Amino acid sequence: MKNHSVDSLRNTVLPIYINGRYLVSEGRSIASFDPTTGQQWYELADCNDAEVDAAVQAAQQASRNPEWRDISQSQRGLLMYRLADLLEKHIERLAEIEVSDNGKLLREMRALSQALPVALRYFGGMADKIEGTTIPVNKADMLNFTIREPLGVVAIIIPWNSPLYMMMRALAPCLACGNTVVVKPSEHASASAVVFAELMKEAGFPDGVFNVITGLGHSVGNTLITHPGVNKIDFTGGPETGREIAKAASGQLTPATLELGGKSPHVVCDDADIDAAVNGVVSGIFAAAGQTCVAGSRCFVQENIHDEVVEKIVERSRAITIGDPRSDDMQLGPLSLWSQVEKVAEFVDSAITQGATLAFGGKRPDGLGQGWYVEPTVFTNVTNDMRIARQEIFGPVLAVMKFRNDDDLFEQANDSDFALASGIWTTDINRALRFMRRIDAGMVWINTYRSPSVMSPSGGHKDSGYGKHNGFAAIEEFSRLKTVVIDYSGGQHDPFVMRVNK
Ligand code: NAD
Repeated sequence: MKNHSVDSLRNTVLPIYINGRYLVSEGRSIASFDPTTGQQWYELADCNDAEVDAAVQAAQQASRNPEWRDISQSQRGLLMYRLADLLEKHIERLAEIEVSDNGKLLREMRALSQALPVALRYFGGMADKIEGTTIPVNKADMLNFTIREPLGVVAIIIPWNSPLYMMMRALAPCLACGNTVVVKPSEHASASAVVFAELMKEAGFPDGVFNVITGLGHSVGNTLITHPGVNKIDFTGGPETGREIAKAASGQLTPATLELGGKSPHVVCDDADIDAAVNGVVSGIFAAAGQTCVAGSRCFVQENIHDEVVEKIVERSRAITIGDPRSDDMQLGPLSLWSQVEKVAEFVDSAITQGATLAFGGKRPDGLGQGWYVEPTVFTNVTNDMRIARQEIFGPVLAVMKFRNDDDLFEQANDSDFALASGIWTTDINRALRFMRRIDAGMVWINTYRSPSVMSPSGGHKDSGYGKHNGFAAIEEFSRLKTVVIDYSGGQHDPFVMRVNK
């Protein structure tokens, strides 16, 4: 398995990667499709329980192996820099592989792939700055301090929409903290994680530090997260799966970070630069065909500019070029899964039945063969109780709603089960800052949208999950504190009284 490409993977069965070796799984094969053609591309294995166990055991052994356990923090960082340098040479290949798996625009996947070495260097630079603190003690001859140590084996479970980008949000801080990992990519987009494994080896990470197993969520995913050898679960995916994982994790008392879905409010105020706002709204929902957790799928427009904004959104939607995501001329690729096409159709029907007005789109475009394309779709006259306003669609469907004033906005925008991202377009700084304070969301974008950074903590609350990726916060997420107390007085103490710090 070397330098694998879209063509070389065609009609093959994807291997798995355990303890530094590619292996042929004994599990049954599952077909994986290219959404641009609707045709099968390769097959992946639904690993059996013994293979899941082997991957976790390899990761456990690696975390005890002195080559990884005792390596200096600076050396850990240097290995990560080496991986970043290597990865940089393979960005195009990995981006092409991901496009064939999920159908997102090649230039979008390229941009996300370019962020991978940035994440490795950011957390690699942090590796030798991970430290504990000295704690004051109310006694002479006593020392109290903390050390920060790895958690052990981290199970990283990722969705299909941006596999390596999602994986790296957890992998980079995990490596910086000295953990070992078992990755389970989505059954709909497993190729890039498997291909990536060879770069870990080439960069010089000891065998077992990084393992990839493939298969279905309910079989392989569930066996992995309930494995007693797993010390932490990092999950990115849908809210229903998140709930199942939280239940399973709590049964084992395994800590978990959950990055789930969203129904993010994207607000256009009457003092906004309208053209910039419309550009932002279109980008927020139609980039990646709406298949991003932070999609600005609920658009709140102030009522006095509502008609003008809707007209411009529809105009922009009509001009969107739909087709092969590998072409730089295209702006909207296919949906990643056929089930997503069906889901969008079902939401369109339900919106019409519930009284929303279809202002644009709503069907599959003509002339694009068997590809899983859906038109950019805009609904107006939406109310916050309709299904398209409440449930995540994960497709190119915008629900436009009106608001009168700030109080009305917050009442509607915060009335959601989700709290992931949010955005506002306004030229009034006071209004922007009020929004920042009052909106119920983990992330706020002002006069911009979809602007993530590895240096900036990301994550949501409510049904959008818990825990943070990125920034210093991620180090706390993937390490733990150990408290150390030393008495160097040499004195004798009453053995029956606790030596409390009084
Ligand atoms: P999903 O929940 O169906 O699957 C995600 C992963 O979980 C897959 O690898 C799947 O095999 C696995 N899985 C499923 N059931 C499991 C189980 N019982 N135990 C263990 N693993 C299991 O999600 P998806 O359809 O792949 O991705 C789309 C969802 O991901 C959307 O809801 C989207 O909002 C969310 N997402 C969130 C973020 C974020 O940062 N908040 C980012 C990207 C995607």
